[in-house]
Amino acid sequence: MAAMVLASLTAQAAPAARLQPSLWIGHPDARAFEATENAHITAAQAAVARLKAVRGARTIANTLAPFDEAVLHLNSAQYFAGLMEAVHPEPAFRDRASAMTRKVSEVRTAISLDPQVYRALAALDVSKADAATHHYVTRQLLQFRLAGVDRDPQTRARLKVLQDQITDALSRFDRNINDGTKSVSVTDAQELAGLPADFIANHKPGGDGTTKLTTDYTDYFPVMQFAKSDALRKRMWMAFSTRAYPVNEGVLREMMKARYEVAKLLGYSSWADYNTADSMVGSGERIARFIAELDSATRPGAEREFQMLLAEKRKREPNATQIGAYERSFFLEQLRRVRYDFDSQSVRPYFPYERVRQGILDVAAALFNISFRREAGAPAWDPSVEIWQVLDHGQVIGRFYLDMHPRAGKFSHAEMVPVLDGVRGRQLPEAALVCNFPAPTAQDPALMVYSDVETFFHEFGHLMHMILGGQQQWAGISGISMENDFVEAPSQMLEELIRSPAVLARFARHYQTLQPIPTELVQRMNRAATFGRASAMARQNVYTAISYEMYQGDPASIDPDTIDNEAVKRYSLFTQVPGTHEVASFGHLGGYSSAYYTYMWDKVIALDFFSQFNAADPLAGDAPERYRRTVLEPGGSLPANDLVKNFLGRPQSMQAFTRWIGEEFVGN
Ligand SMILES: [Zn+2]
Repeated sequence: MAAMVLASLTAQAAPAARLQPSLWIGHPDARAFEATENAHITAAQAAVARLKAVRGARTIANTLAPFDEAVLHLNSAQYFAGLMEAVHPEPAFRDRASAMTRKVSEVRTAISLDPQVYRALAALDVSKADAATHHYVTRQLLQFRLAGVDRDPQTRARLKVLQDQITDALSRFDRNINDGTKSVSVTDAQELAGLPADFIANHKPGGDGTTKLTTDYTDYFPVMQFAKSDALRKRMWMAFSTRAYPVNEGVLREMMKARYEVAKLLGYSSWADYNTADSMVGSGERIARFIAELDSATRPGAEREFQMLLAEKRKREPNATQIGAYERSFFLEQLRRVRYDFDSQSVRPYFPYERVRQGILDVAAALFNISFRREAGAPAWDPSVEIWQVLDHGQVIGRFYLDMHPRAGKFSHAEMVPVLDGVRGRQLPEAALVCNFPAPTAQDPALMVYSDVETFFHEFGHLMHMILGGQQQWAGISGISMENDFVEAPSQMLEELIRSPAVLARFARHYQTLQPIPTELVQRMNRAATFGRASAMARQNVYTAISYEMYQGDPASIDPDTIDNEAVKRYSLFTQVPGTHEVASFGHLGGYSSAYYTYMWDKVIALDFFSQFNAADPLAGDAPERYRRTVLEPGGSLPANDLVKNFLGRPQSMQAFTRWIGEEFVGN
């Protein structure tokens, strides 16, 4: 393995590709968008036709090259449509983008079910190919078999119908959530007590004296964390937990049914088993074991935390024996203030949006030994979007887009969207961050909460993976084109940086006084942040279990709301509010399906990775360079289990995670 890494390092020294004209220059209207998309589809189909027309011996040049050409074009089309669906300001454009997403997916499915393409790749002799090419072809053949290409024509036809159904349902599931924002009315201004002054100032009552809040994260999280009013938090929780209900429960059942049928047709007992065949974990049973391991690691801490929160609640309600799920964030915040002398509002003045944005760029530049340059004057889909180039020793190696603030109809969470796969000597990698952080204005410095800054680091970790891993020989192994259950490791690794006083000292300064954030405050913040960690991880295990159990058997015998209620009961100590239907807006049940475990699986890996960095200054020492070379730069050119072993010198273990969970009680 080490030899292979060296080989790929040598190859990295090839001259950098030209910077291609960006897709966005000219701010495409719907017709230009569709023309671009159709051109990609035509090019992909032409490449497949070339591959199929070959007579005689199959070679990398006459078979894998055109196959990868098709992958490159289909990925470009899919990324562009996916991005437009998430960000375009016009609803009609987003509709066209959704239709295009379906079209691209249908073309991809048709290719993945084409036995001629499979037989052509299977006929390749890759025994003398370089390791990356060998891995690419091996994995691709597995994916072909998972698509059912070696099955009889009737089965293949049925699989195609099912895949199209899943794609369609998935798109509706996500859009119902995006469009499902609800509002919560506040007629008694007293109900806003406890919320930050700037929040109240930004939510003035209308002419009828009613303040309107929404279930967007910018309203939802502050209310759940700070509002003293139990009634307001409960209304907000109900509104938030019934978004896209009931429509999405029907859509979810459609997806579960179609996926189960796919798994059975291909000889797997459940979608969860099928869905793990090409992943690090390898089986559904391994997910079940992992859920049990997480439960053991988190339960002692979660129980101690629950007792502390209950004691806090009993100050108000002496006979309380339960804590509702809608009360958890609020009591955690209260106790953090009392017990840890930490008010999360106290760090916000050190996190004005612009400073955080620049700070994260500077930290990433220092960590990965790269630089960033703003591309001025290039239009994007919205005037607020910033375009940046990534440079390595002065050479441009990629580009990214920052779309960071809420807009009507925009994707309402935070995500990195790939835009272009990087292929050495041909095309530079591009990616976009789509987030919903507060927007600075002349009056408002847009002070960010700690968790927003953490999210920014997280998404930037995905972005760096996409760009630094985007200097490959093939599009199909570029960036994050790899096992799905590894891709949250580099993002969660970068999250850890926010806990380092040395890292924060580089950028966190008071927005008025420009004083650096006091180290003592960071230490207090970290101690406070560790409180609630065990129950937060138990909550993640609830989601992991819901996602797995929803897809681990015959959907005829599975009731989504029952799964939700039982997982809450089994893995968290908090009480679900009757009448909520969280699964309807649990977006991961669409795209991730049974694979929500990925976050925790990768958390374990990320913490193991981070334990190799210098604790006093994570940017120092040789770990950052080794990490860039052995984990990020290979992209999908190696099995993910090998990336882990190459960096750690062994497979990941639960140790760093268990230590991290237990940190809470150290020094308190
Ligand atoms: Zn992520």
